[in-house]
Amino acid sequence: MTGYTGQAPDTGIRRGEWVHRAPCRTKDPEIFFTTALVGEARSICRTCPVLEECHAWVMGVEAGLAEESRDGVVAGLTAAERAGLDPVAQSRRARTQETAAARVQQKTDTKPAPLKLAPRKPRRDPRPVPKCGTTAAMRRHQRLGEPLCDACRDARNERSRAKRYARQDRLVKEAWGRGLTDEGICTETGLSKIVVRRARQRQNLPANEETRRAA
Ligand code: SF4
Repeated sequence: MTGYTGQAPDTGIRRGEWVHRAPCRTKDPEIFFTTALVGEARSICRTCPVLEECHAWVMGVEAGLAEESRDGVVAGLTAAERAGLDPVAQSRRARTQETAAARVQQKTDTKPAPLKLAPRKPRRDPRPVPKCGTTAAMRRHQRLGEPLCDACRDARNERSRAKRYARQDRLVKEAWGRGLTDEGICTETGLSKIVVRRARQRQNLPANEETRRAA
């Protein structure tokens, strides 16, 4: 993950003027982070007036990252597609694959050890293959230079969603505690209105403007 915080684009990082013209600011961020909604995210990006700026930005901040460390649809591209366009990530992946293949070859080439007369120690059980959808399984895919399977990808998305929400909740609660309105929280945190509202709702925080109106 790149420090990408849940908005598409992440206004916490994307400070350029173009951010304010990004249509995704007013869309549900989950569209850009849900595998089943990739088509919808792409169609929003396709007509985006700042697609070029967004593309340049994301390729810059994610330069060299493995596919597993990228997240969501940005500039109309999935994490795998962006990694595929990044020469550094590609050569790293090729190296990993070569190393994995060399290891397999080495095992195949190794001659069986000569017979020893000493009694053999009982063999340890081979390490079980981790179940897909777990961190261990995701690391195994990475180690073997394999693309993530759907279960591991979903688990990875779920974890990054939880991190994103935690960060948004923390920012919003802190600004809300100082009596800021939703508008003020947006300006202060760089989050969009929809994200601020959802973060408040997750934490059962009433809108400060409504509380003032009622008083
Ligand atoms: S290209 Fe897509 S992700 Fe980038 S700013 Fe436009 S709508 Fe948002």
